[in-house]
Amino acid sequence: MTTGLAAIIVHGGAGDIAETRAPLHVDGCLRAARVGHAVLHAGGPALAAVEDAVRALEDDPLFNAGRGACLNHEGEIELDACIMDGTLRAGAVGALPPFANPIAIARCVLEDGEHVLYAGEGAARFATLHGFRRLATGDLRTDAAVERWKAVLAKKSEPNWAGGTVGAVAIDSSGAVAAATSTGGIACKRAGRVGDSSIIGAGNLADDEAGAASATGHGEPIMRVCLTRFALTRVSAGRAAQEAAEDALAELARRTGARAGIILVDRAGRVGHATTTKTMSWAAITPDGEGAGV
Ligand code: ASP
Repeated sequence: MTTGLAAIIVHGGAGDIAETRAPLHVDGCLRAARVGHAVLHAGGPALAAVEDAVRALEDDPLFNAGRGACLNHEGEIELDACIMDGTLRAGAVGALPPFANPIAIARCVLEDGEHVLYAGEGAARFATLHGFRRLATGDLRTDAAVERWKAVLAKKSEPNWAGGTVGAVAIDSSGAVAAATSTGGIACKRAGRVGDSSIIGAGNLADDEAGAASATGHGEPIMRVCLTRFALTRVSAGRAAQEAAEDALAELARRTGARAGIILVDRAGRVGHATTTKTMSWAAITPDGEGAGV
């Protein structure tokens, strides 16, 4: 059974989604939050809750993670993901060739414990050695991703973030926190590019002494300011999750001019979400009930 603390919040990426698609993104986030919350409700750990929530979002072709991931400059899929718990155990993959659930591979890296981050072909080798099935780009590619890719190549759209990165942060009934983030990155990125979602303290961070956070938006500025670490440092200084989320985005804008989104949970079980982009779909389940929006 859950105690008063257990809470989860997920996001479906910062960006500018069309009004007609917004309800679909919100529904997808809500479904994923419910998947994660079921784990917490059964007394399970935050780490399993965020992994399961992100897997659900990776399986949903609407989002830029797993199936539906954006294409790089060469029309291929390269995936980034990171998962971490509040004891600072972490696993991540970067520029991973197509696999259905990169967050599960990141979890396997965490459990294996030898290294924290594997990239490219080495990451693929680690995954296949541990029983994950390598796919072809065509297995994960969606029409929407192809359209976006063509638009960027034809310079009809900015080579900017694709939107639809996914993340989840949670606190369980024991007070432990965890964070998970997964993405195809930015549309038309150069081959081999690794973004913030794979990088601890940039796109993803969990720390039982503060809370957990997942960021979304253009990864390069997010990495430069170590956005999730900045946010959790604010929590450590006494700010609530919501205030810390807003502080972090203000700092990102001040230092780099970039816009982004972030979700947070603090050690008191309070969740926060903020974005400086037009949209960021999110859904939360806390002891106060369900909430969702864009
Ligand atoms: N942060 C991701 C990246 O730069 C993209 C996103 O959040 O939409 O790879």
